[in-house]
Amino acid sequence: IKKIGVLTSGGDAPGMNSAIRAVVRCALANDIEVYGIYDGYAGLHKGNLKQLTRHSVSDMINRGGTFLGSARFPEFKEESVRQEAIKNLEKHGIEALVVIGGDGSYMGAKKLSEMGYPCIGIPGTIDNDIAGTDYTIGFMTCLNTIVDAVDRLRDTSSSHNRISIVEVMGRYCGDLTLWSAIAGGSEYVVLPEIGFDEAELFEHIETGEASGKKHAIIMITEHVTDVTELAKRIEAKTGRETRATILGHIQRGGSPMAFDRVLASRMGARAVELLIDGKSARCIGLQYGKMVDHDIIECLEEMERPFREDLYNLSNVLF
Ligand code: ATP
Repeated sequence: IKKIGVLTSGGDAPGMNSAIRAVVRCALANDIEVYGIYDGYAGLHKGNLKQLTRHSVSDMINRGGTFLGSARFPEFKEESVRQEAIKNLEKHGIEALVVIGGDGSYMGAKKLSEMGYPCIGIPGTIDNDIAGTDYTIGFMTCLNTIVDAVDRLRDTSSSHNRISIVEVMGRYCGDLTLWSAIAGGSEYVVLPEIGFDEAELFEHIETGEASGKKHAIIMITEHVTDVTELAKRIEAKTGRETRATILGHIQRGGSPMAFDRVLASRMGARAVELLIDGKSARCIGLQYGKMVDHDIIECLEEMERPFREDLYNLSNVLF
């Protein structure tokens, strides 16, 4: 293999740049040229690509976001659009593609592979919602950002005897919420995997108050309920000042922490190794501390992400 492409797709995640850097440097070390495709599948369709050198990825290991850009491009679900994308790659003699992104991006890579174009997937998303890996690139950094915000909210909510509701990203995966609830010492956690019982939450707040708790932090995953409305209902029910904070896009930004940089470097290196070995339609993961790879179709269609019941139970003991 002589030429490969790399792109980032879906929501950006801290550590994506470290992954691109690893793909570029490991490929060059094996005399493989690398083309960077800008703005995900949208750029692939437009033919927006450029050859990357060692220098293109200098000073990138510590930068948040993705210097290649990312985009949502639903048109990629159409076969004719993907056909044009493959033509763009072939025009430049690019023989395979590394896709860094979430499960939507994996779907794109899977479909390209099914059309005969070799692809490797690297899990780059803050949500940690991809099967076949314990951690996705960006999860740990995002988690730290959330915990930092929760620490700040704790200072102000305990000074004012306030109840704070914190809405956390994660789409339909509660990992960021659950981990930040444990790390931030919150009083209650609401996860999409468990569902939301408002009566139980009220009861929990009342029990906490009776036992002398001066404040409460409630962590909740996005899309579960309208947190601003929930704050109003809690205030009406308990008579205590309640505020909802939606952390939003702050969670995506920032320099990747060391864990994500190392994870991204290892995953980028493995992607290049797989391509050198002539493998395609694989996705990379870290399981029990080891680099692994799985069939991307199996990963999307058959494998499940196990819910961390042990952590959920722990959080309930620690509250
Ligand atoms: P994150 O979860 O972090 O937002 P993601 O990769 O899941 O990342 P999506 O917006 O779901 O983000 O997908 C990214 C891109 O992948 C889409 O904009 C689209 O171009 C492509 N894509 C998604 N689903 C499909 C599909 N079924 N077939 C082909 N391409 C797809």
